[in-house]
Amino acid sequence: MQLFMHTGFEGNILGCKWRDMLPYWAALPLGLSDKLETRMHNYKSWFGLATVVFALLGGLPQQALAWGHQGHMVVGALADQLLTDRARAGLQADLGLTLEQAAPWADCVKNVAFGPKGFAYAADERWPSPACTRFETQEGVRAMRDYVVRNWDACGQRVDCHKTYHFTDVAYQHLRYRADYVGVNGHDLVHAIRAAVVMLQGKPVPAPFSIASRAEALLLLAHFVGDLHQPLHVGAVYLDADAQPVDPDAKNAASDAVFATRGGNSLEVGSSNLHAMWDDIPDTLRSSSIPVAMLHDARVLRASLAKPERWVDAWAQDSLTASREVFVGVHFSPASLQKGARVWQTSFDDEAGYRARREQLQIRQLTKAGARLAQLVNALYR
Ligand SMILES: [Zn+2]
Repeated sequence: MQLFMHTGFEGNILGCKWRDMLPYWAALPLGLSDKLETRMHNYKSWFGLATVVFALLGGLPQQALAWGHQGHMVVGALADQLLTDRARAGLQADLGLTLEQAAPWADCVKNVAFGPKGFAYAADERWPSPACTRFETQEGVRAMRDYVVRNWDACGQRVDCHKTYHFTDVAYQHLRYRADYVGVNGHDLVHAIRAAVVMLQGKPVPAPFSIASRAEALLLLAHFVGDLHQPLHVGAVYLDADAQPVDPDAKNAASDAVFATRGGNSLEVGSSNLHAMWDDIPDTLRSSSIPVAMLHDARVLRASLAKPERWVDAWAQDSLTASREVFVGVHFSPASLQKGARVWQTSFDDEAGYRARREQLQIRQLTKAGARLAQLVNALYR
């Protein structure tokens, strides 16, 4: 089952959600340069064409979910148990949902697509999303469509800006998130969380984000704080021509030979990929039965001293550090082309040991996500 998602088309073709995989696999066969492949924030112009290719291919399975719906619901359910009475009442008045119920919304909106009849919501019946059902009323669908329309192309891309809000791609070698790094842009996950926070503080929402109401801001926060704690939604590995990790921001990095791996979506693990592997949360973990130990650890997690609108920076830094663990004991084979897109095979020094470490880190990250979501909502209703 899945935990966090790089949304959008972030997973593999079968399981994408955290990332805009679409521009990659669709556009690369059409001759875009490696340099463009590396510079994710340069893919603006790919989207129109990529969308056409996607539409022509049709029928591809839809993404599974980053941190999956269940992972996001675990974060929300944990946070729900840590809210102050005041925050709980405010949440009820502004949104009328628990955080557990709200958490999947930002992924559900990805079912809104632009087609011959304009923007329309269409859930893929092959990939039912029970967590989206509550939003599929006439009014709910209108709200999802409205959000997507407002957040469609204002970031400079021709389509799907809202899908880029779910991730950022800082090279895992870095110690902190910085605006001038490769993989960072003004419409990434960190900026999206800041935008939702300032909206709830009654301040102007920065472009390119369009957040129409406190309810919408809460729906976004309930989801994005979860995404921020999936290590591969923040930290990324960039590979050179020999499939060795490289820092794309290093002065001596030859940018023509540095390749982005789309949050691990291009790193194959059997029939899946590294991103999807980290999306899958342990089967024993469900939002309906949050382990006592997680709740305890979340309760004692200290809040940052800075102002709430700055918390996201510290959290991003923390997730970036966590992402280093993802790449310990992991190796990649030289790239091959699959449907024209570059992919690498992933191998592990100790697969069983890696799985055990992964589950531990996932639980740690989910715990932090739940605790911090509650800290933020409590602070915003203080
Ligand atoms: Zn997401």
